[in-house]
Amino acid sequence: LALLRQDIRDGRQAEESLRQSRESLLARLDGLELRDRDHVALSKLSNYLNSCLTSDEACAVITSFAPQLLPSDVGTLYRIGSPGGYLERLASWGDIPSEEKLFALQDCWALRRGRLHWIGDTRSGVLCQHLAGAAESILPYLCIPLIAHSETMGLLFLQRLQLPSNVVEGSAALESKLQLAAALGEAISLALSNLKLRDTLRQQSIRDPLTGLYNRRFLEEYLVHERVRATRKNRPLSVIMLDIDHFKRFNDTFGHDAGDAILRRMGLLLQGNVRGSDIACRIGGEEFALLLPEAPLPIAYQRAENILDTVRRLQVKHRGQVLGAITVSLGVAAFPKHGETPEALIRAADRALYQAKEGGRNKLASA
Ligand code: GH3
Ligand code: MG
Ligand code: MG
Repeated sequence: LALLRQDIRDGRQAEESLRQSRESLLARLDGLELRDRDHVALSKLSNYLNSCLTSDEACAVITSFAPQLLPSDVGTLYRIGSPGGYLERLASWGDIPSEEKLFALQDCWALRRGRLHWIGDTRSGVLCQHLAGAAESILPYLCIPLIAHSETMGLLFLQRLQLPSNVVEGSAALESKLQLAAALGEAISLALSNLKLRDTLRQQSIRDPLTGLYNRRFLEEYLVHERVRATRKNRPLSVIMLDIDHFKRFNDTFGHDAGDAILRRMGLLLQGNVRGSDIACRIGGEEFALLLPEAPLPIAYQRAENILDTVRRLQVKHRGQVLGAITVSLGVAAFPKHGETPEALIRAADRALYQAKEGGRNKLASA
C-alpha cells in the first residue's frame, strides 16, 4: 500500500512538473510569436519609411505603425529645428497627457546623454524638464534620442508603457519592450536622416549657391510643368528675363568679390519682388529669370517696370565702398502668344531683353 501511495505521489509530481514546463514553453512560444509579429511590423515600417519622399509622408507612416508596435503607449515624434535649436512636435499618436510642444535640447536627459532615458517610477527617477506637471501625475515614460550618422535628428517620446503588473525593472519583458522601442527609434532616425540628405541633395541640384535662387535646370523643369498646367487650365503664364548692364565693369573696377556682392543683392531684390507661386532664378552669370504663373503680359510688364525702378534706386555697399549705379535690362514674354514651348517662350523673352540692350540698356521690352 505504501509503495502504491508513493507511486501515486510520484506520478502527481511528474504531472505537475510536466504541466509547469508545458506552461513555460507556451509562454516562451507566445513571446516568440509576439517578437516575430513585432519584427514583421518593424521591417514593414522600415520598408515604407524608405519609400517616403517628404517628412509629412514619414510622419503618416510612423503614426500608423507605432500604435501597432506599441499598442498601449502614446507617443510623440520631435524634430530638431536647427542645430542646437529647439525640438518641435512633428507628430503624435494617442492622447499625450503631459508634455510640451516645443522645448530646448537640454530639457531632455536622453538628448543630453545621447542614450535612452527610461523612467519606470516617476517618484524616484530623474525627470526631464519637457514634462509638464507634478511628478505624481506623470506616467512612466521613455525618451529615445533619434541619432543617425552622429547627428541628433530629434526625439521619440513614449508614455504610459502599460506593462503587466508583474513586470519589474531589469525583467526580460521590460527589456524586450525597451529593445523594441529602441529599434523603432533607430528606424525613424535613419529615415529622417535619409530624408534630410535627399532634401539637401535636391536643394543643391536646383539652387544657385551664390544667391540661393533656383538655377537654370530648375527653371527649365518647372517651365515644362507650368506650361502643361497653363494649357490645361487655360491660364496665363509669363517670363521676365533680366541681365545686369555692363556687369563686367563692376568686376573690373571693384573686383570679383564686389561683383558677387551685387549678384547676391540682386537675388534678394528679386526674391522680394515675387509672390509665393512665382519662381526667381539665376540662370547663369549676371542673368536672371522670373517665372510668373497665372500672370498675363500686362501684369508681368508692370512687375518688370517695378524691378527696373527698384534697381535704379539700389545702392550696394561692399567693404564700406558704394558700388556705382547699377542698372538692368529686362525682356518680358507671355505664353502662348510669344512662344508655345518652354524653349520658345524663353527665347522670346531673351530676344526682348536683347532689344532693351540695343535700345540703350536700363530699359525693358516686351516680346
Ligand atoms: P551687358 O550690359 O551687355 O550685359 O554687359 P555685361 O558686362 O554685363 O556682359 P558680359 O556678358 O560682357 O559680362 C558678364 C560678366 O559677368 C562677365 C563675367 O566675368 C561676369 N560674371 C559671370 N558670372 C559671375 C560670377 O559668378 N561672379 C562675378 N563676380 N562675375 C561673374
Ligand atoms: Mg549677360
Ligand atoms: Mg550683362
